[in-house]
Amino acid sequence: MSRIAYVNGRYVPHSEAEIHVEDRGYQFADGVYEVAAICLGRIIDEEQHLERLKRSLRELQIAMPMADAPFALVCREILRQNRVRDGILYIQVSRGVARRDHPFPEDIEPALVMTARASNWPTDPDSDSGSKVISVDDIRWLRRDIKSVSLLPNVLAKQEARDKGAYEAWLMDDEGFVTEGSSSNAWIVDLEGRIVTRELDPRILGGITRATVIELARKNGIEVVERKFSLDEALSAPEAFLTSTTSFVRGVVSINDKAVGDGTPGPLTRRMRGLYFEFCRGAGSNI
Ligand code: PLP
Repeated sequence: MSRIAYVNGRYVPHSEAEIHVEDRGYQFADGVYEVAAICLGRIIDEEQHLERLKRSLRELQIAMPMADAPFALVCREILRQNRVRDGILYIQVSRGVARRDHPFPEDIEPALVMTARASNWPTDPDSDSGSKVISVDDIRWLRRDIKSVSLLPNVLAKQEARDKGAYEAWLMDDEGFVTEGSSSNAWIVDLEGRIVTRELDPRILGGITRATVIELARKNGIEVVERKFSLDEALSAPEAFLTSTTSFVRGVVSINDKAVGDGTPGPLTRRMRGLYFEFCRGAGSNI
């Protein structure tokens, strides 16, 4: 079956999906995106993804390309046309097409692209054997709370991780604290058995998975602390893990080739992964 993309009002074969050479997303990375997981045909945390998309757009003074109801219809239609029951929905909005010039052009229509891809998500929470992480300097801009398509530092960090045989790179601020992963949020378990992740501010992206994991943890009597942690603290923590839309909850078993805990995903990590899997495959966004 050939894939279909949605590009500015048209459903087109994926191989023929094109944007204009003067799309500002292409020329200036002047755009934002969302990635949502699809599980059993449902868009996980759909409302939260839509809210974050709108927030990112607002911060950049880009208009939402269409009203909520038609937007939700296009999301469903692209999933239907690509027969995605388990997979990923990708949404990108750029400021639009205009003659190349830095300031915002006037009277410009935002450009909207959506694609969908099937994926075989793991269904067994115990399938996680744990991931290796490396640390790299966080060289990004200071508005990481905006889910901008300007991802070059993230790409470089992820490639360095791959080159070193690791799954993810944890990004380090100037004070030796972990901000987040190149495409995930970073977590540890502290010595009191609380789960710890960096507080929300413009230095990190407010992950949708992060928010859901916090809610699931608290609902299940697990204490969550939102604060910074250093690489040293992570290395002496009993457990570490990462969260994202496409990684769900994954144990971090080593950082820079030094084992975290006993070098396997720990009990709280496995518990959170289990709770999150249950949430995705069962209760949907109704926590
Ligand atoms: N942080 C960064 C930099 C990301 O790119 C992502 C996801 O792509 C995340 C965190 C996790 O966000 P979410 O849980 O919404 O996928």
